[in-house]
Amino acid sequence: MSGQPKTANIVIIGGGAVGCGVAYSLAKAGVEDVLLLEKEPTLAAATSGQAAGLVGQVRNSVERTQLAMWSVQTFCELQAVDTANPGWRQVGSLRVALNDKRVREFEGMKAVADEAGLETEFIDNAAANEHWPLMDFSAAKAVLWCASDGYLQPSDLTMAYVAHARKMGAQFLTSTPARSIRLEGGRVTGVETDAGVIECKTVINAAGAHAFHIAQSVGLELPIVPVRHEFFVTVHADGLVPDLPVVRIPDASLYLRAETNALLCGGWEPEGLSTDPRGFALTAEPPAIDPDYEVLGWFAEQLAPHLPKVNDLGLRSVFRGWPT
Ligand SMILES: Cc1cc2nc3c(=O)[nH]c(=O)nc-3n(C[C@H](O)[C@H](O)[C@H](O)COP(=O)(O)OP(=O)(O)OC[C@H]3O[C@@H](n4cnc5c(N)ncnc54)[C@H](O)[C@@H]3O)c2cc1C
Repeated sequence: MSGQPKTANIVIIGGGAVGCGVAYSLAKAGVEDVLLLEKEPTLAAATSGQAAGLVGQVRNSVERTQLAMWSVQTFCELQAVDTANPGWRQVGSLRVALNDKRVREFEGMKAVADEAGLETEFIDNAAANEHWPLMDFSAAKAVLWCASDGYLQPSDLTMAYVAHARKMGAQFLTSTPARSIRLEGGRVTGVETDAGVIECKTVINAAGAHAFHIAQSVGLELPIVPVRHEFFVTVHADGLVPDLPVVRIPDASLYLRAETNALLCGGWEPEGLSTDPRGFALTAEPPAIDPDYEVLGWFAEQLAPHLPKVNDLGLRSVFRGWPT
């Protein structure tokens, strides 16, 4: 006999960082009877378990900046709890501009940050070097420092949301794929699973790359395109410590941070590979991604002028997925 509830106030489809974060926020806001469905046996099984965990608040609009600031506040609160915390490290971030156009963009972002109430400052290359002694900032035209940025462990964040949401009454069912959303007279009436229908009036679609198919079950075409993203982690090396700030060099399409005593480096591919969600079904997975060593090697080449040590570091692991 299934332990699946027959009714819920709100059903969330998808147990990644987004779905679990929404469950946590709803429970914290006092919303009762929240039920999350995850098709895999574990939570954070898809994109969230592969993410690099960089948390950046400097954005192009005040609203997005304030949303990111609110996230940081949440991570600080969760980290203050002894158990089930997200591994949040508020190490700061350095955003490096290599040309004048980027400097102007950073100036615009700083103005947005000022308006949003986020503290940032331009620092000189020597000060940047004090934050990241192994890096060579001589090519930098500007460096924007944000002390309250940082990074976390995305799987730990997801599990922290779950642990705290559970304590506040939210329920989580794994190995329970949602098959479709039921509508009557244009209103949501429930979610279908293999064990039957869960009646509800509100559904939150947090199914990641499958959000397209869930929306399709009520006749909506979500304009989402999963795009391949990958990063590598090297072997341990002297001088790499967890408290080094996150670095972003958009002109080299790069980001990096320390992962314990190793280097984590990823980037934005100039010709990012995408997959059309119409090409796979709700019951199937997006195409498997093998590590693309040509792209990962290009990240390392892009980084070498700024961090020559990368040439000496062996590769330990590659993370990849289809963020939407
Ligand atoms: C290599 C890499 C690095 C990244 N680095 C960063 C970073 O540094 N910072 C950052 O902010 N973001 C980063 N991202 C992006 C980030 O990972 C995603 O934005 C985030 O994880 C999306 O979370 P999600 O919950 O929406 O999706 P997912 O984690 O994909 O969760 C969706 C869940 O829905 C479930 N599901 C699907 N269909 C159904 C169904 N029918 N019924 C029930 N459950 C279903 C899936 O199994 C899955 O668990 C990175 C992504 C990748 C791939």
